[in-house]
Amino acid sequence: MSDLHRLSIRELSEGLAQAKFSSRELTEHYLKRIAKIDTQVQSYITVTAEQALAQADAADAAIKAGHATTLTGLPIAHKDIFCTQGIKTTAGSKMLDNFISPYDATVVAKGKAAGLVTLGKVNMDEFAMGSTSENPHFGSTKNPWNLEHVPGGSSGGSAAVVAADLAPFATGTDTGGSIRQPASFCGLTGLKPTYGRVSRFGMIAYASSMDQGGPMARSAEDCAYLMNVMAGHDAKDSTSVQKEVDDYVSNLNDTSVKGLRIGIPKQYFNVQGLDADVKARVEESLKKLEEMGAILVEINLNMTEAYVPTYYLIAPAEASSNLQRFDGVRYGYRCENPVDLMDLYKRSRSEGFGTEVQRRILIGTYALSAGYYDAYYVKAQKVRRLIQQDFLKAFENVDVIAAPSAPTTAYKIGANLSPTEMYLGDIYTLAVNLAGLPAINAPVGFDKNNLPVGLQLIGNYWSESQLLSVVHQYQQATDWHTKRAAIAEENA
Ligand code: GLN
Repeated sequence: MSDLHRLSIRELSEGLAQAKFSSRELTEHYLKRIAKIDTQVQSYITVTAEQALAQADAADAAIKAGHATTLTGLPIAHKDIFCTQGIKTTAGSKMLDNFISPYDATVVAKGKAAGLVTLGKVNMDEFAMGSTSENPHFGSTKNPWNLEHVPGGSSGGSAAVVAADLAPFATGTDTGGSIRQPASFCGLTGLKPTYGRVSRFGMIAYASSMDQGGPMARSAEDCAYLMNVMAGHDAKDSTSVQKEVDDYVSNLNDTSVKGLRIGIPKQYFNVQGLDADVKARVEESLKKLEEMGAILVEINLNMTEAYVPTYYLIAPAEASSNLQRFDGVRYGYRCENPVDLMDLYKRSRSEGFGTEVQRRILIGTYALSAGYYDAYYVKAQKVRRLIQQDFLKAFENVDVIAAPSAPTTAYKIGANLSPTEMYLGDIYTLAVNLAGLPAINAPVGFDKNNLPVGLQLIGNYWSESQLLSVVHQYQQATDWHTKRAAIAEENA
């Protein structure tokens, strides 16, 4: 079978259950595609072929013995920020380029327990800080829609593997948009769950109060299958919430678009730098939802201008604290021939971290330092609360809030935007993480250069089922999510 990579998660699950193909065949199919096509896309940091085939054989045995779960035998790619026992976990950094984790992240362990086959670990912005996956240590992953463009970031490898059909779905993480923006740039569906829904245990920390793992795939239905595996309380993560988990797959038709009140924030559509094509595609998708019965309601989110400065104080502050542990002593990269302890710290950290990571550590350290703490960090925390309240007020009147996921389509590789220009590209995603809300990206068409455009829907706390359901119904009525980049059509 040469077209296994065109099947949806449901079709793959049914095909395996009905013995139309085995997990070994499916896994070999993807490994072949990776060997041929990933030389161009450059999304995998590590391909775990041997382990994948062993897992596939075990999955085939389980299916034969009648012990299979829905996803037993399906291949997956993990963002290289999730610890994988016995397999290198780099977080996209030279600091960890020889780190073999002694344990699995909970998300990885849950995947294994569900019978998923790990194809490998995929590229990202270093320590998830960035929006392009132009990684200074592992190279730039390419956007499958146009290899001269970035796939977005930080979960750019996860987006690229799915868009090029080098994995049927992938895990990502989102601290300030890192699932939604690459999903938008690569024409995929990606869900950032409510903070606390998915365990952060074994997920290398960037900004702990905002980091959240989630699924990236072609459709809401595909994401729902992976969400069923990823979500849930974990005693090993004190911020994971003890709350019953929905069955995201069986809830896919539970929310009707008919009568759904969609808030359109006035401020979001007047943002300077919002590309005309992006605006047009997003508005067309909202029109379509309106035709399907949704009610569009103009709303105000008055704190919009505060999103970027607030996030870019809090996230670096947390990062500077989280990244202290990489000192070249206990683990992590260690410089050659240190003359004394201070030299060891200094050189290990300046050689092991790339420029952007160093910039954020410096910003964060400054914001937390005595004398500046109240003026920056404490102030940012207060503004964060106001941003959250702004959303809660909006949700008194609407069910979901619509926005672009990003003001533009995918940047050119090497565009070399200044840090502040880069940060402004996160305008539509950051507030969701500051408030801890769930949000989803859905593909809604293309710009004049045939690069994908994404619609973002933001929900109230714990509304993952609703978001998936709304996008699922939109995807039943449209076919943007079925479009494939030319490189995905190539056979191995
Ligand atoms: N682009 C944002 C940043 O650089 C978001 C990254 C993320 O969500 N991990 O911080």
